[in-house]
Amino acid sequence: MVKSKPDRYQDLRDAVRALCAQFPDSYHREVDARRGYPEAFVDALTKAGWLAALIPQEYGGSGLGLAEASVIMEEINRSGGNAGACHGQMYNMGTLLRHGSAAQKQLYLPKIASGEWRLQSMGVTEPSSGTDTTKIRTTAVKRGDAYVVNGQKVWISRVQHSDWMILLARTTPLAEVQKRTDGMSIFMVDLRAAERSGMTVRPIANMVNHETNELFFENLEIPAANLIGDEGSGFRYILDGLNAERTLIAAECIGDGRWFIDRVTAYAGERVVFGRAIGQNQGVQFPIAEAHIEIEAADLMRFRACALFDAHEPCGAEANMAKYLAAKASWEAANACLQVHGGFGFAHEYDVERKFRETRLYQVAPISTNLILSYVAEHVLGLPRSF
Ligand SMILES: Cc1cc2nc3c(=O)[nH]c(=O)nc-3n(C[C@H](O)[C@H](O)[C@H](O)COP(=O)(O)OP(=O)(O)OC[C@H]3O[C@@H](n4cnc5c(N)ncnc54)[C@H](O)[C@@H]3O)c2cc1C
Repeated sequence: MVKSKPDRYQDLRDAVRALCAQFPDSYHREVDARRGYPEAFVDALTKAGWLAALIPQEYGGSGLGLAEASVIMEEINRSGGNAGACHGQMYNMGTLLRHGSAAQKQLYLPKIASGEWRLQSMGVTEPSSGTDTTKIRTTAVKRGDAYVVNGQKVWISRVQHSDWMILLARTTPLAEVQKRTDGMSIFMVDLRAAERSGMTVRPIANMVNHETNELFFENLEIPAANLIGDEGSGFRYILDGLNAERTLIAAECIGDGRWFIDRVTAYAGERVVFGRAIGQNQGVQFPIAEAHIEIEAADLMRFRACALFDAHEPCGAEANMAKYLAAKASWEAANACLQVHGGFGFAHEYDVERKFRETRLYQVAPISTNLILSYVAEHVLGLPRSF
């Protein structure tokens, strides 16, 4: 492993690394090959309490900050694993924590902290609206003590391995609201009960081993008690959680980037062609050095975003910029790593092609690079709004 300077999180890093070391490359490779879910890995992380890091101690979590949570996610990816199997739990429960009623927090958070319930899913994206979330067509109409949900979602992850999902639906038609961001609400959906009464799950086969699905709702009834916060304010609540999500994803990219740098430096030092280590050639060295520099720079922005978030300061710009820089850096590291491995980079047994596929996702989801650039242009630089 390339030596990085010990930081103030070294004890935490060592503890997460020790757990991850029980799940070697061969474990993640085998799960990927059969397109399975890393059940044993996620269970071990849950039992150790790592996925409850952000849950306050009064609800049975460890009450750590976003900086620590991000280090946990980074170390999972740096170990060769993929936090995509379990990161939803980290940021989804933040929505509940900030906007749920006292009774809701008491009901859900201790069970999530203990691992009895998983809150791994968030249902926002729809096939027809894409990134333009205010145009979602899934509706929730109040009837007595329940909301009746109809519509469709796409790319909703971990539904088969979660007990609960936070669902965004329109409760007031777009034509009847003053601001297009008004009139949407969020709900806790009991996934197993929903599958029996109006929700159909259709898995999407995809490039990475990521359990993600199309969801169809036909008169699904959700108890009115499962509404989080005020009716009509759901979009704001979802936006609220995005800074944590982006910062945690940035940390995962940094973990991936460091994994690639570890692997590629080791390989470049060992592989001998034309009578010398390929790493002796500057044409081989430079893309690796460049990727390393960019990962380190992204890391600084990640910790700046964490510091602001943990101090309850606005951090939209920093969280978005951290995600942008980290996703770009990990992708450049992935490319360098694959290239330097030559043909062997394509062999499953080296794990490079698996991590290459996994880290590519972060340019698109959970937010695409263009949308980050658009955020920075409009909200940070004050350029005219484009959509
Ligand atoms: C594996 C995977 C897991 C996912 N998990 C979840 C999940 O759990 N929950 C969930 O709700 N969603 C999930 N998503 C959805 C994900 O958040 C979206 O795919 C992503 O936000 C991009 O939206 P889209 O696919 O609808 O692309 P579109 O909105 O159709 O955009 C397509 C492309 O056009 C670009 N584009 C669009 N408009 C503009 C513009 N005005 N200016 C410049 N460029 C533009 C975008 O940047 C993008 O590159 C997941 C997606 C994947 C692939």
